[in-house]
Amino acid sequence: MRATSGIAFKLAAAALAIGILGSSGAQAQDAATAKQLFGSVKLPTRSDPEPLGFYAKGCMAGAVALPTDGPTWQAMRLSRNRRWGNPAMIGFLEQFSRDAARLGWGSGILVGDISQPRGGPMITGHASHQIGLDADIWFTPKPAQPLSIQQREDMPFTSMLDKSKFLTVDPKRWGSTNAKLIMQAASYPQVERVFVNPAIKKKLCETWTGDRSLLGKVRPIYGHDEHFHVRLSCPPGSATCQKQAESPASDDCNSKAFAWWFTKEPWAPPPKPDPNKKPVKPRQVMLSDLPKACAAVLAAPSRAEADATYGGNTMAYSQEPPVPAAAKSIDAAVTEPAADIPLPQQRPNR
Ligand SMILES: [Zn+2]
Repeated sequence: MRATSGIAFKLAAAALAIGILGSSGAQAQDAATAKQLFGSVKLPTRSDPEPLGFYAKGCMAGAVALPTDGPTWQAMRLSRNRRWGNPAMIGFLEQFSRDAARLGWGSGILVGDISQPRGGPMITGHASHQIGLDADIWFTPKPAQPLSIQQREDMPFTSMLDKSKFLTVDPKRWGSTNAKLIMQAASYPQVERVFVNPAIKKKLCETWTGDRSLLGKVRPIYGHDEHFHVRLSCPPGSATCQKQAESPASDDCNSKAFAWWFTKEPWAPPPKPDPNKKPVKPRQVMLSDLPKACAAVLAAPSRAEADATYGGNTMAYSQEPPVPAAAKSIDAAVTEPAADIPLPQQRPNR
């Protein structure tokens, strides 16, 4: 057990010792938004792993990186530098990738964004993914032939939905292995939630014959039709990680809340702004909005990438510098609406 103030103090002391929190630095920090600050840090802290705060409002100390390549996984979009997580998440991904390959999901999984080196809010995509306990996994299996760094930048996402219909899974793309993959993800005790598009949850509700209680962990959300999102519980004993409400114990297939997704309301365009009123600029999240310890996390000394890569395997990023993809976020991908059919548009993650 470690209190927030304890880790904040230790990290702040370390930062002061190397003179990072000088007065001009502190002023620059005041003006920049939290996403600018956390988005510009390239390496994790050297401290013990700690999720600090909530999935959608926090940061992380002591992150480790998922190796870019493993026997049963490949990390995608390497230029985004978002393959950092709590060691519990990185260990989970390695285990899940082996189990996925065993299920017949290609030769393993393609891993999208986890978190930035010190977590925190991001400049593009994602409301969550801030404390190293969220990860995106593609609905495309890892091919037998490894993808090059450039292919990992450019490979397009494949939606599991038939976009000509309202919230409907495409039977040409979705099969029993997809269903097994999601339910496998939900089966681990440390997995708290698996976010998928409502159409995917519905398909599972209609077809899953295994343990139905696991379906309660499968949560409907906007987007998430070309990737799914796994969220782990706070690691046992972490005093600084803010827990989320438990997911339903039942399959949650017949609840009012789930039925709501299949009404018009969630897909209606937002109300037009009143032309007589001055538009209100949305307030940016500042460092002071995050847990206090996050200022110290930002300022703490770095750990080298090779040293902080889980299992020590890094494919030297510099050997083949990737051309950054047009900063299109996996979570910000917007579907092209066809005709008048209301289709899932990306909304902020809950
Ligand atoms: Zn996600």
